[in-house]
Amino acid sequence: MSLWKDYLHPQTVQEAVEALASAPAPAIPIAGGTDLMLDLQQGHHAPVHTLVDLAGIAEMRALEIRGEKLFIGAGVPHNRIVESLLVQEHAQSLVEACGLIGGPQVRNSATLGGNVAHALPAADGMIGLLALEAEAEVASPATRRRVPLLELFLGPGKSALKADEILVGFYLPLSQPHQASAFCRIMRAQGIALPILNLAAWLERAGEKIIAARISVGPAGPTPFRARQTEAYLAGKTFSAETLAGAQETLLAEAKFRTSPARATAEYRRELAVVLLKNALTTAWERAK
Ligand SMILES: Cc1cc2nc3c(=O)[nH]c(=O)nc-3n(C[C@H](O)[C@H](O)[C@H](O)COP(=O)(O)OP(=O)(O)OC[C@H]3O[C@@H](n4cnc5c(N)ncnc54)[C@H](O)[C@@H]3O)c2cc1C
Repeated sequence: MSLWKDYLHPQTVQEAVEALASAPAPAIPIAGGTDLMLDLQQGHHAPVHTLVDLAGIAEMRALEIRGEKLFIGAGVPHNRIVESLLVQEHAQSLVEACGLIGGPQVRNSATLGGNVAHALPAADGMIGLLALEAEAEVASPATRRRVPLLELFLGPGKSALKADEILVGFYLPLSQPHQASAFCRIMRAQGIALPILNLAAWLERAGEKIIAARISVGPAGPTPFRARQTEAYLAGKTFSAETLAGAQETLLAEAKFRTSPARATAEYRRELAVVLLKNALTTAWERAK
């Protein structure tokens, strides 16, 4: 039995969103297909009539500096992100996150846009991106807009994108001197697809002081989580064992870890969160020298 009836190959973003708006419904985008095909095959996704394949859209595969930002097209696969000198220079946490996703075959076809659009709270690429204060470019038939990443999510697996909208790409601030980031995760040894816990940290330092920090954690709530209270705690403090301990305490107070039967208990996640926070902050601190 076929999993879809029509399969369209738009060549531009405009063609893609118009196809989503006008093709027989349900019509949904497909990028690498590594999430979507499994979901369709295993009955975790409602049946679709039309698949709109985004792979032929050159604009969505761009990876370049645009003005003061690094642009990464939503259709860029993880392996290109890992190999890109630009991403290595400006977005270390994203390189580390994408480098851990699946195996080489998955990373060759799975895209950053698909990782974000799937809207899971612990998607690795998403968490790596979130600490970098990226914005997403969203296209609909009538317009394009830029939105902060967190506005894309309504709940686990529920994106705020409308049926005729797609992610075109992501705009990241360029890294300045004494700014750096890092990503860590813990995965079950035999695990695939999602980690027990992941965490990304970005910071700016001046001498021994933390000027500003950004922390993202997954899963720590129904949507990808920014640890704003921990970030506020770290800002302006001297980097020290005492500061790290205070940050760990703050993170545990604000994050909501839950037990998931296939992966880990909430208690175990709390144990891991403090270790990942310390490791990611320490790595980012050293890199920002
Ligand atoms: C063996 C295996 C291992 C994996 N390991 C990991 C892992 O370690 N970490 C991890 O985070 N993930 C993992 N994944 C999940 C998956 O590979 C990633 O989430 C991947 O980035 C999804 O991208 P895709 O291009 O394949 O998306 P697709 O499967 O094509 O699409 C996923 C969803 O996003 C929508 N979509 C795709 N692109 C767009 C767009 N531009 N605009 C709007 N909507 C869009 C689709 O409609 C669909 O709902 C794994 C998957 C497999 C099969």
